[in-house]
Amino acid sequence: MEKCEHKFVYLDTKRLRENAGYNDHFKRIDTFFCEKCLEYIDKVQEGYARGKPDWYL
Ligand SMILES: [Zn+2]
Repeated sequence: MEKCEHKFVYLDTKRLRENAGYNDHFKRIDTFFCEKCLEYIDKVQEGYARGKPDWYL
């Protein structure tokens, strides 16, 4: 089987926010898929902050 030269296309973004005491826990998951082989990848960013971080918007 030939190795796929992935061509990832943006699919979806999920945002999760939950209370975690003084700070809130933010998590953002950007999902992409390869339009050739349909492999999915998630790009996850997360961290604790009092207000929404730039990457969460
Ligand atoms: Zn691929």
